[in-house]
Amino acid sequence: MRKAVLVSLDAFFDADFRFLSPEGGLSRMIREGSVCRQVKTVFPALTYPAHVTLITGCDPADSGVGQNQPFQLGTPNRHRVWFWERKHIAVSTLFDAVKAAGGRNCTVLWPVCCKNPAARWCFPEVHTLPGENTVRKTLQYGTPGFILFSELRFGKLRSGIAEPGLSNYAAAITARAIRRKKPDLTAVHLIDLDEMRHHHGTFSPEAKEAVRRNEMRLNDIARALAETPGMEDALLIAVSDHGQSDVEIPGNLTEMLQALGLDRDFGAQSNGESAYFFPLREGADPEAALAKIAPVMQDHGISKLYSRRELDAMHCVAGPAFGCEAADGVVFTDGLDENKREKATHGFGPGHKAENCLFAVMGKGVKAGYEMPSMPMRDVAPTIAGLMGIPFPSAKGTDHSREMLV
Ligand SMILES: [Zn+2]
Repeated sequence: MRKAVLVSLDAFFDADFRFLSPEGGLSRMIREGSVCRQVKTVFPALTYPAHVTLITGCDPADSGVGQNQPFQLGTPNRHRVWFWERKHIAVSTLFDAVKAAGGRNCTVLWPVCCKNPAARWCFPEVHTLPGENTVRKTLQYGTPGFILFSELRFGKLRSGIAEPGLSNYAAAITARAIRRKKPDLTAVHLIDLDEMRHHHGTFSPEAKEAVRRNEMRLNDIARALAETPGMEDALLIAVSDHGQSDVEIPGNLTEMLQALGLDRDFGAQSNGESAYFFPLREGADPEAALAKIAPVMQDHGISKLYSRRELDAMHCVAGPAFGCEAADGVVFTDGLDENKREKATHGFGPGHKAENCLFAVMGKGVKAGYEMPSMPMRDVAPTIAGLMGIPFPSAKGTDHSREMLV
């Protein structure tokens, strides 16, 4: 098995290539390795469904993770649970494939990977809900020794979960794990850019700075690989999950359902720039609801309605009766989010200007300067498995590794 390090640059998309600097890690990966600039994200374009697709090679319809959070009608956002745990994924992951091939995995803030039996070392991505103890929950959801060591050694780099400290911390833990543990697959999720976009806007100076910081973090990780005996030939892979676009108009779909007399039949849950509608009772009729919503959809910031059949065609998760997408500049709040003063967000559908994500790989035997054509996000995991030389038959996507190897 060929070793690999997988770095997720949350919220990086194709419009960001112009912000790269020649001495940055991603510029180097593009020069010395292969890149795809049009990895089409999943619908809805959210962090958790996308990251699950990135490591399963399956769309939300198969993985079972189609939103960040399970449907929790009436629960304020800060009280909601997320799909934190590995058990929420219904199919095999790359980590399972590595373990089955005799390898060891290290995950750092990788989504939907808490309590993962396939992770030898796990620094978990989990939030504490009001009343919960952060230290206790973090230790319960990850690998206690690895977490405690990371805190003692690098805790000074972060201040809670604020960025850019958290991503500096994650990159430092990752570089240290590479040097000391030499995992077969290391996966790290860097949230810095996503955070800057939400708070300051898609193309804000803060977002551009975050792109540059991510490039420096990639340099640090590449240096750790080059300087560690046994890791020099490892593949360095960079991916992303979605872009973002600016939003300024809140859309309240709960109010719309109430105004149309549909709130006893369906509950809305926002995905940012889209939403899902879940049936609340037996016999709730989605066709009738769509017929009522269609004439007034524009008044409520809806640009597109998706029937269940259309959701199926987009490989969406089971559960929602129908869905919708926001008009340009609109963010759905579903009446619950207390946190919607964001300047930019995501969660959009196919064809959106921020749908093109990143796949880049560098390492011995990888073609230099090769540009891959567009591919669906489900092709990423089987391609990584192909590059690592491990079987991964559960993936539904296509393995493109041969195109990238000399
Ligand atoms: Zn994300």
